[in-house]
Amino acid sequence: MRKNIVAGNWKMNKTLPEGIALAKEVNEAVATIDLACEVILGTPFIHLSSVALVVDSNKVSISAQNCADKASGAYTGEVSAAMVASTGAKYVILGHSERRAYYGETDAILNEKVKLALENNLIPIFCIGEVLEEREADKHFDVVKSQLENGLFSLSAEDFGKLVLAYEPVWAIGTGKTASSEQAQEMHAFIRKTIADKYGKEVADNTSILYGGSCNPSNAKELFANPDVDGGLIGGASLKAQDFLGIITSF
Ligand code: PEP
Repeated sequence: MRKNIVAGNWKMNKTLPEGIALAKEVNEAVATIDLACEVILGTPFIHLSSVALVVDSNKVSISAQNCADKASGAYTGEVSAAMVASTGAKYVILGHSERRAYYGETDAILNEKVKLALENNLIPIFCIGEVLEEREADKHFDVVKSQLENGLFSLSAEDFGKLVLAYEPVWAIGTGKTASSEQAQEMHAFIRKTIADKYGKEVADNTSILYGGSCNPSNAKELFANPDVDGGLIGGASLKAQDFLGIITSF
């Protein structure tokens, strides 16, 4: 069965000591809670192994925010999926809109990254979502479908079944403008149906689909109450333990 998940994406925030302090704060807080979701901290690469040492892996999992599209070798500055896995990370965020927009990550590159992540037993949290102009032109369903088809649908059903998806309308990321609960549910149901058409209902029903885009403690409960919204990928509100906790306890 699919899991409820709240995953923080720290992006390029927090020095190493600040990140360790935040991870400890989240870890101490969740220790006292009967969790109804898996909690994930998506940290910068350099934080991964230190953060893994200070959290209880039964309650808090660690995620990278990217990995290379090559296995190893002369790729200065890159970090491979195998390296990420060796830190104790369980997840890797792939296809975030900031990676697609600022670093030219195409569906084909992302497909390579997903395959390498899976080969190294990392679970990709694969992000899809439309920009504002695409929604306004009523192309949002086509865009999301093509991201799924070109980024992921070459995978076997078995491999696809290992993924977590995150629907992140780009116009809602870091803007304070959240998708309405209806917009989120409508797109999540569409994504689940698209998966069912390709891989069958069982795979679709077992896939966790997170919502991302200005999710905060005030709107999380309503968003997560939707039948096809299985949690959130959280940027800004994951940088303060109390806000992140407010979202975690929205289930
Ligand atoms: C994100 O970066 O994945 C995100 C959803 O950011 P924010 O919550 O800040 O909109």
